[in-house]
Amino acid sequence: MGMFMSAKAKTAQCPLCGKPESIEHKPFCSKGCKDRDLLQWLGEDTG
Ligand SMILES: [Zn+2]
Repeated sequence: MGMFMSAKAKTAQCPLCGKPESIEHKPFCSKGCKDRDLLQWLGEDTG
């Protein structure tokens, strides 16, 4: 067993853009993505 495998935990990813999630904005990566998701909830889809 000489193979070294880094056992880092699998980081959750932003459901909108796939970047690693931010602790502050989880499960999103940033406020931008969080707002985008929120807008969908509010029906602010202006096309
Ligand atoms: Zn994102």
